[in-house]
Parts: sequence; structure tokens; C-alpha cells
Amino acid sequence: MEVLRDMQIQGTKVPHLVILPLPFQGHINPMLQLATLLQSKGFSITLIHTHFNSPNPSNYPNFNFEPIPDGLSDSQLWTEDPVKILYFLNDTCQAPFHDRLSRLLSDGPVTCIITDEIFYFTKAVADQLKLPRILLNTGSATYATTTASLKLLQQNGLLSITDGQPNTLIPEIPPLRIKDIPDIGTTDPDTFEQLGANVLNAMRSTLGYIMNTFDDLESTALAKIRQDIHPMPLFAVGPLCKFSPGSSNSLLTQDYSCMAWLDKQAPQTVIYVSFGSTASFDKRNVVEIAWGLANSDQPFLWVIRRGSIHGHDQVELPEGFEEKTRERGQIVNWAPQQKVLAHPSVGGFWTHNGWNSTLESICEGVPMICSPYLWDQNLNARYVSHVWRVGIQLENGFDRSEIEWAIRRLMVEIEGKDIRERVRDLKENAMHCIEKGGSSYESLDGLVDIIMSL
Ligand code: UDP
Repeated sequence: MEVLRDMQIQGTKVPHLVILPLPFQGHINPMLQLATLLQSKGFSITLIHTHFNSPNPSNYPNFNFEPIPDGLSDSQLWTEDPVKILYFLNDTCQAPFHDRLSRLLSDGPVTCIITDEIFYFTKAVADQLKLPRILLNTGSATYATTTASLKLLQQNGLLSITDGQPNTLIPEIPPLRIKDIPDIGTTDPDTFEQLGANVLNAMRSTLGYIMNTFDDLESTALAKIRQDIHPMPLFAVGPLCKFSPGSSNSLLTQDYSCMAWLDKQAPQTVIYVSFGSTASFDKRNVVEIAWGLANSDQPFLWVIRRGSIHGHDQVELPEGFEEKTRERGQIVNWAPQQKVLAHPSVGGFWTHNGWNSTLESICEGVPMICSPYLWDQNLNARYVSHVWRVGIQLENGFDRSEIEWAIRRLMVEIEGKDIRERVRDLKENAMHCIEKGGSSYESLDGLVDIIMSL
């Protein structure tokens, strides 16, 4: 770090990092948080990004933004299997990324590429241009170890799943049940398998592996990754949402009017409801959510993202709902989530357990109600409710009585008090990790050192 500061003082060219995020909200956020953190250490940053879901340059006046075409059409986004979209992007982005990077290199040196691990095509480009590459994994360490363990067990015929019932525990990977196994919502498991193999293949000869987690939360999984999975240096620098000096990475406009509404609510009474940037629901689910919230008698702030209700462009809520909740409910299209979770009125977060939302909730000491939807969310929800014990999982989808009961358990009953205490402890641990001398702080120093050694 001293070296970087000296270089700036002497006017020497500082090391230049090229950053490439995967263009989805849950991937863009941690990547831009990481880039901001590295810039605060003195690196110069160029962000190469797809036209699709491009971040707003005015939020990052000190980054150099370089757009590349991705060839993705609107109709593909609405109809295509998510795994096929990832495949498609890996295909279409390779040539433009190569061209853009070559042009940057003709203007001056690039020290290193930092890319989302799912962009496996970057290995070929980095090899051609003889540039080192570091990967960011935006999920949990437990997700990474579980998928690796599952694959190994399956290959060796050692997975003893007997009855196929969703609630059956899998003895080899406790406390996970069949229904907690990562679900990628694909209609094409072979393509997914191939995508995973490509990602794994492209990990070879990378300089380092960055994870958005912290030692006190996932020490076992991190130790396993260090020992068994990745032979390269691992840097657990999370929670990035707290570690990085904040700027907004939101692709949708965040509605700040809800902050004034929160100011009027009593401390720790509001349940904040949001299911992230990609989850979608049918009308029946929305009706159950609405009546669950209405019948709980608790104030709520509910994010209903435009387009998240199947077949409905506009939000239509059941008759009588508005009348019953007018005094204590607020609905927005998209919220400033981190600020909402940090607000003293918020006492619970009903979430889909995307990894960013899960970390953000822990970082603000807010206990959770878990309704996982896809990908790694089932596994995250299981860890939240049964390992860290900082939340309650809704086990039967969306049912108004179960929702009402879960909200009461979390917000009013003694059980909720214990959960709240545990999440506050976790929050403290997270804060220690990012302080000087903490594990994430040290990891970040290690990452800076390895880049400086190039
Ligand atoms: N988010 C937000 N406003 C909202 C809902 C979500 O800014 O109303 C942000 C949230 O803070 C998080 C991200 O969107 O950083 C969602 O990422 P996550 O991994 O939780 O879920 P995903 O969207 O990838 O399913």
C-alpha cells in the first residue's frame, strides 16, 4: 500500500486494473464494490462492460468506462433459459473484449484483469494478450464447496439419496435436504453441466480467487476451498457491501420516498420485503403474500419490481388489501435496499436469500424470513435458518397463514428476540473482519500485494 501511495506522490503511473462484471445486478454490485475498494487503495480502474445492463458512469467519475456489444436481444431475455444466456454472453463477448483490451494496451500497460468467474471466455483472451487474470466469485463459499462435493459424490456413486422426498436430509452434506440442492431453473441440465466445466477449466493458471464472504461466517467452507478445490491464493474480502466505500450500482431507479415513510415508523417494527432482481411470481403467490402481510398486522415495506408478476405489467393487488393496510404499508418498485436495512425502523427482512441480500441483512443485524427461489438461494436459506440461525424459512412456498405466523414469530415472539441477538453477533463479527487486523482486511492487503508483485 505504501508503494502505491509513493507512486501517486511521485506522479509515477499507478497499476491499471481492467474489471469485467457479469451484467446482472447480483454480480455487478459486488464487482463494483470490489473495484471501488481497489481504487481507494490507489489502483486505476477501467471497467469494460456489456451494453446490456450497463452501469451508470456518472456514479463512478474516476473509473474509465469501456462498453462492448453483447448481441443480446430483448426477446432472448424474456424467453431464453438463464443458462443459455450465460453461454451466449460468453460467446458473443469474447471478440469485442479482446479488441477493447488490445486497444487499451496500445495506449498503455494493463496490470491485471479482474473478472467474474462465470465469464470463462476471458481465459483465452488473457492468454492471447499475456495478461494475468484474477477471478471474483460472487456467491457464498458454502455454495462453491457444496457443488464441488455433490459432483464428486455423484461421480463416485456415493450420494445416498433414497426416497427423493424434498425434506429428506442428505447425510453426506448436512444440514442440506434434497430441496436445498442448488437449483438453476434450467430446462437443459447438460448445457449447465458444460457451463460449469468451462468455468472450472478456465480457473487454471489464474493468479487468485476472490470471494465476497468473511472467515467468521464461512470458515469451514473457506478452509475446504483452500485445501481441496483451488490451488491458487484465495482472498475472502467480504462483506464487500460494508467494506467498500459506497456508491450506487443499482440498475433500476431506487425510490427514496420510502425512507421518509420509514422515518415515521416505530423502531424495529417494519418488515422489509424484497425478492431481488430476477425472481418472479404468479398472481396466486402475490395474493398470498399480500394477505399474509395484511393479516400480520405489522408495518411493511414491499418491493414489487415491475415485470416480476407473470403476465402482468401493472401491479394488481387483491380487493380490500389496500384498505386494510393503507395506514401501515408501503409498496415501491425498487428500494435503496442497503439504506432500508440500515434504517432503525426495520426489524425484519423477508428475502429470497440472494447472496448479496443475505450479506446485507447480516451486516445491518436484521433477522430474515427466507423464501428462496433459484440458484444458490435454497442453500443460503438453509444456512441462514439452520446453521447461523438468524432467520426462519417458509417451507411451503407462499401460504398466507404460514406467512402471518412467520412474521409474528420473527417480529413479536420471544423466538424473534433470540434470532435478533444472534444476527447482531454476526454483524459484529463481520465488522471485525473488515477492521485493521481483521481477516478480510488482511486478505485485501494480500490481494493488493499480489497485484503489486506483477
Ligand atoms: N436491491 C436493491 N433494491 C431492491 C432490491 C434489491 O438495490 O429493491 C439490490 C440488493 O441490495 C442486492 C441486489 O439488488 O445488492 C440483489 O442481489 P442478490 O444477490 O440479493 O439477488 P439477485 O438479484 O441476484 O437475485
